Amino acid sequence: MRLVLIGAPGSGKGTQANRLESELAVPHISTGDLLRAAVKADTPLGQKAKKVMDAGQLVSDDIMLDILEERLGAGDVANGFILDGYPRTLAQADALKSLLQRLQQPLDAVVEMQVPHEAIVARTRKRFEAEGRSDDNPDTVRKRLDVFAEQTAPVVDFYRQRGELETVDGVGTLSEVCGRILAVLPSTRNNKATA
Ligand code: AMP
Repeated sequence: MRLVLIGAPGSGKGTQANRLESELAVPHISTGDLLRAAVKADTPLGQKAKKVMDAGQLVSDDIMLDILEERLGAGDVANGFILDGYPRTLAQADALKSLLQRLQQPLDAVVEMQVPHEAIVARTRKRFEAEGRSDDNPDTVRKRLDVFAEQTAPVVDFYRQRGELETVDGVGTLSEVCGRILAVLPSTRNNKATA
């Protein structure tokens, strides 16, 4: 299963991807986590990315494609992956399509998680208090939501127009939302319909 999860910051993509990783037995690839690991390791890339992330902006498409290409080259993605946080721009959506075409591994599903604005603000505030992620401070979250509306919403439209998008309500318990996602995936749809 090659799945892309799309949603605004704080929509629960990471939480669901963690859960789906065991449900679907494919790795969760979070470009945000890959960047945070580079920041933690204080690599040149990490130092550059930190400034951009703390400003709530997007790291450049070129850098992101390099990171993704390297990650998709690892052996553990042979049976698929759950991509969380990529693509975030139309250029990234194009790059992903070309990369997967070259690898002969087209996407099976793109799932959008919809969560109302107020719930996102509340969730990220809670995460800020619990985990101290610097880009979860309320001002940066506002910026990240603007960036989502400007740069990532067109990606959602791109998949919708191609008839490749499934949208689920992202409000509910972990299990409820996970069940909704599983119900729209091609290979699990039938199982879930009779579960
Ligand atoms: P996330 O954990 O997915 O919310 O990502 C945290 C931050 O990492 C984002 O606000 C961006 O600054 C950066 N980032 C993660 N994925 C991407 C991407 N695909 N393109 C550009 N920047 C990204």
